[in-house]
Order: sequence, then C-alpha cells, then structure tokens
Amino acid sequence: MGRSIDLPGRSAAFKQMELAINHARMSGKRLLVALVDLDRFYRINETRGTDFGNYVLNTIYKRLIDIETAISEACMHSIIRIGGNAFLIIMQVDEEDTSGWKRVEAIKYAVSQPIEDTDTELYLTASIGVCLYPNDGHTSEQIICHSESALHQSKEQGGNLVLFYNADDTKRMDRRITIETGMRPALFLRHFHLSYQPIYRLADGRLKGYEALIRWNHQQLGPVTPNEFIPLAEQNGLIVPIGEWVLREACKMLAGLTKYNTSEMTISINISPVQLVDPTFTETVLNIIRENGLQPHSIELEITENIMIYSSDISIATLSQLRAAGVRIVLDDFGIGYSTFSNLKHLPIHCLKIDKSFVKKIDLQSADRHIVEAIIGLVQKLGLEVIAEGVEYEEQYKMLKEWGCNYVQGYLLGKPMEPTLIDMTMLRNNKSQANLKLIENEILLEAIR
Ligand code: C2E
Ligand code: MG
Ligand code: MG
Repeated sequence: MGRSIDLPGRSAAFKQMELAINHARMSGKRLLVALVDLDRFYRINETRGTDFGNYVLNTIYKRLIDIETAISEACMHSIIRIGGNAFLIIMQVDEEDTSGWKRVEAIKYAVSQPIEDTDTELYLTASIGVCLYPNDGHTSEQIICHSESALHQSKEQGGNLVLFYNADDTKRMDRRITIETGMRPALFLRHFHLSYQPIYRLADGRLKGYEALIRWNHQQLGPVTPNEFIPLAEQNGLIVPIGEWVLREACKMLAGLTKYNTSEMTISINISPVQLVDPTFTETVLNIIRENGLQPHSIELEITENIMIYSSDISIATLSQLRAAGVRIVLDDFGIGYSTFSNLKHLPIHCLKIDKSFVKKIDLQSADRHIVEAIIGLVQKLGLEVIAEGVEYEEQYKMLKEWGCNYVQGYLLGKPMEPTLIDMTMLRNNKSQANLKLIENEILLEAIR
C-alpha cells in the first residue's frame, strides 16, 4: 500500500485550478493536470538532511518550470508545490492528443535527470497521476481528486510510473513510450525488416519494380505498423537513421536481383519530410546508389503530398538535386492532402500515386470514379506518370487500364512480401502478363499462408 498524499498547499491548488478551469472554459481549450510525487523522498531527508532535501526539491521545481516555459511559451500553466514533495502542474493543451503526451514525458524526463551531489549523483523517480479537463471532470474538486486517485494507483504499483485517470489514456501512453524507447535498440539489433510490394506496368502487364515497406515485430507488442511508429520516429529524429537503413537495405535487395536481368526494374522507397531537410541526405542517397552499383533512375523516392504544405525551400532544393542526378521522385498518397494541379507543376516530380481511398471507390457508381479518370488525364497532360495504389478488385484494374493509368499496385496483384518470396515472383515474371499475374498471385498467396 502506498503512502497517502499529504496536501498542505491544497487550498492554493484549488484556487489555481478554479482560475485555470475558468480560463480554459472561455478559450475552449483543454487542461492537462499532473500530480507529481517524488518516490521515497523521505529517505533523502533522513540520510542527507533537510537542507539537501530542499535543494533537491528546488532543483526539480526549477526543471519543471524550465520545461514548461520551453514547451508552452504561449500557454497558460502553473506549478504549485503541495505537500512535502509533490507538485501540481496545470497546463493548457490543444485538442491535438500528442501535445499532452509530450508534456508528461518531459516531466518524467526532468525528474529522472541526475542531481549533482558533492561526490556523487543522485537519481530520483516520480509517481505521476494525470487527469484531463473536461474529459475527466468539470470542477476543480473532481479534477484534483481524480489526479490524486491516478497518483495513488501509480504509488500502489510501485512508483516510477505515469498513470492517467482514464485507463485507456494510460494504455496509450504506455504503448507510446514502449514504442519510442524500443526504436533505437530495434535499429541497432536489426529488428526492423522490409517487405516488398510489386508494382506492375499496365500497358504490357510486366513487373515494374517493388515498393519497400518497413516492418517491425516488437518483442513485447508484436507487429507495430509503420503508420504508428513512423510519426514517432519523425518527432524524435530517429527517422533519419531508420530511413538511411531502409535505403541501404532496399538498394541492396534491388542489386541482388540483377541476376534476373532486371536493369529496368525500380525500387520505391518512402521518404519522410524530416529526412529531406537533413543536409547530408542527397549525398547519402547518391552514395548508397553508387555502393550498390545501381543506376539512379532505378530508385524512386516516394514523398507524401503534405510535403507541399510543409515544404521548406531546403526540401524542394534537395528533391531538385536528386532529380537532376537521375533519381525518380513520386508524389505518394495524392488526393488526400491539399495539393492542387497548379502547384504540381512546381514540384520536381516524375510521377504521382493516387491514394487508395480513391481507388477503393472507382468500381462503385460514385463521383470518385470520374475524379480518378480526370486526375489520370490531367496529370499525364502535365507530362507526369500515374500509379494507382490499393487495387483490390479486377473491376478497378480494368477501369484503370481503360483510362490509361501507367502503373498499378495492390492486393489484387501482390501483397507486400518477404524478400525470400521475391525470387519466386521474378522467375515467373520473365514470362508473365498482369492478367496471368492474377492467377500467379493466388499461388503466391497460398505460399504466404
Ligand atoms: P504508403 O507508402 O502509401 O504505402 C501503401 C500502404 O498501403 C502500405 O501499408 C501497404 O501495405 C498498403 N497496401 C498496399 N496495397 C494495398 C491494398 O490493395 N489495399 C489496402 N487496403 N492497403 C494496401 P503499410 O506497409 O502499413 O505502410 C503504411 C505507410 O507507412 C506507408 O504508406 C508509408 O507512408 C509509411 N511507410 C512504410 N514504410 C516506410 C518507410 O520505410 N519509411 C517511411 N518514411 N515511411 C514508411
Ligand atoms: Mg508509398
Ligand atoms: Mg500511399
């Protein structure tokens, strides 16, 4: 059973909470309230004396203020010391989920940093109970009580733990932290691998190449999808080394296929906007291509549509350099962002990939069918090629062919597969046409099962 929490500063905390709630109510914002209690702090007072204990508390208090000013300059926040060794932190957060997680992680990190003593370093941990306004309560009484209740739970589970009042939030936070902390070791220990999905040329049904898609079988969580971990890698910067590994691995795979006389075969690699602003990116890509004895035009870099909204001059310059060196650039997920045909002209791209959400609906009598047909026509008039992704049904395939789409990719023709299965596809491809591919795909799926 954990110690109960003593709150001599309770009335100050309530007052501050009232103010914050009024403010949040008026501005339509949310509040994140964290009750932070240093674990086994009484032992510091007992063994090192209260002067040192106060020094430790002041140090932690200052760190909490520092992170708060760094994260939320424009946001209202307050930190109140309550009780001997607890702090109540009230922060205004946006609707967007991640800003809250970041702050809680920053609090945990601030506490865990060593505290200098004369000849040694002291390491502390904290139990943290978190609650959200208005999700977990509407009055200051409810919010503070619910944070205390989450804190009690954290103490009871042994401390050094963040718990949200809402169990689902705790689970999401735990999962996020497990994924974030597991990424670096996963890269180092080679726990990532690539799957390859075939892309076919519609005119003659032959294999154009493969798209490399990263996979991670997490030791505790099992498979974690790229849609879940890539955004986290983008936030903590690990996407740069992970992306470089993907480039190396995919180019190595393509180089290994030369035995099948594949000089025209391409490999498509997804690139994050964060990689494009890395000043060494162009050099890295060109080196990897050279090291593997490949032609630059056999590499296609897939960038997402939102690059146009968030793009800096640096990323456009990087893409232009790569294009000038012969590397092909594809605009992925076209149609779900905000790009218009007029700004497509200004991007250094060769090809555009229509998002699967459009392709999904083209066999229905919907407006999307006409949109896809029009996109194909217009894009080709701009001198660009078109790929349709997410082709799942024969009907979609037939219509795309009729409309003159250049390339297709999707479960109908081939799911992302392990490199060992590629050899089988390559042997068959030498004589195959795409409609034959449909039959072959069945055989391949059998093999995967
Ligand atoms: P994306 O580049 O648009 O890749 C297509 C996604 O659709 C893949 O999901 C693929 O498995 C899936 N897919 C392919 N054919 C079909 C189909 O017929 N139907 C449906 N419903 N889905 C299909 P995956 O592998 O989970 O990847 C998701 C996203 O994660 C990718 O979208 C890409 O944006 C990102 N990603 C994957 N690998 C990497 C990587 O190495 N680096 C970076 N930066 N991002 C990556
Ligand atoms: Mg892609
Ligand atoms: Mg896509």
